[in-house]
Amino acid sequence: MARPSRALVDLDALRHNYAVARRLHGGGALAVLKANAYGHGALRCAQALQRDADGFAVAFLEEAVALRAGGITGPILVLEGVFDADELRQVQSLALWTVVHHEAQLRMVEDTADIAGLQVWLKIDTGMHRAGFAPADAAAAHRRLMASGKVVAITLMTHFARADEPGQPTTQEQIAVFDAATAGLAGRRSLCNSAGVLAWPEARGDWARPGILLYGADPLPGGVNEHGLRPVMTLQSRVFAVRELQPGDALGYGGGFIAPVTMRVGLVAAGYADGYPRTAPAGTAVAIDGVRSRVAGRVSMDMLTVDLTDLPRSGVGAEVELWGQQVSVNEVAAAVGTISYELLCNVKRVPLVYR
Ligand SMILES: *Cc1c(COP(=O)(O)O)cnc(C)c1O
Repeated sequence: MARPSRALVDLDALRHNYAVARRLHGGGALAVLKANAYGHGALRCAQALQRDADGFAVAFLEEAVALRAGGITGPILVLEGVFDADELRQVQSLALWTVVHHEAQLRMVEDTADIAGLQVWLKIDTGMHRAGFAPADAAAAHRRLMASGKVVAITLMTHFARADEPGQPTTQEQIAVFDAATAGLAGRRSLCNSAGVLAWPEARGDWARPGILLYGADPLPGGVNEHGLRPVMTLQSRVFAVRELQPGDALGYGGGFIAPVTMRVGLVAAGYADGYPRTAPAGTAVAIDGVRSRVAGRVSMDMLTVDLTDLPRSGVGAEVELWGQQVSVNEVAAAVGTISYELLCNVKRVPLVYR
């Protein structure tokens, strides 16, 4: 038997979640496929969405080049924009859309010879203070882009810092800053990431940019998932050996886990080299043959250990879900002090199996 670890990817769930995002937001929705579609395989996800999606978004040029090489023909937005004039020429030759979010990128558009017909997304910093033009500079940047003669259409965009905190006033303030900075400027509007789509109807514009929600992880506190998102990835393996621990036996590296009672422990063929977090403490939820149990002992590189004491019928061969339908990736993320995004895009080494 081959090593029984894999990440199952449910492409129907992906299409379902995309439809949820599009229906909630209205207008168009760019499916965000950066970081290899948050670990799910960018090209396969793009192919699965190609008929439904209005377009795609990736972080940087190489990701877009790979999608074009794989036969993806629709709009692809490069969210970080380009790093040099050569990349800008590739944006044109591959008919990509690109974000312009700082002065050097704006100058590249103005100064690069022999380009035309660009579709630019002009990013305004409305309070995150990371990327984007200051609100006071938005109109001038817009004017310069149009005056360059190289741009056929501008979409005005911004990005939220705290849209996953309903009731927090920052998002409302960002919307107001955006509206004021872009008043009277020609172009479509795009404000919402996943949390914006889910929690801020007043931010809906012409284009949504949903990422994490496509993969079925609700970014809102507690992962309330009131819109019926379906988890796309199931990270799964099997128990390949079972052992019994006596009370007082130390389990795994560091010996920090001491069996409090006689225990049955299963060895599972997945570890931090597969992307399961080493920081997952004993007690982190797993599902074994459909029944919830927990990690016991420290996660190692290639394997981890789970508690089978209360599961006498589960032994060698038992199916272990590390996250998916029964144990949400949000729950594991909370246990290790991170977010679903980081866990999903860290998945590696295990085969991605599509259905
Ligand atoms: C990553 C990203 C998104 C998608 O964010 P989610 O929280 O995953 O929905 C949207 N817009 C921009 C600019 C991004 O960088």
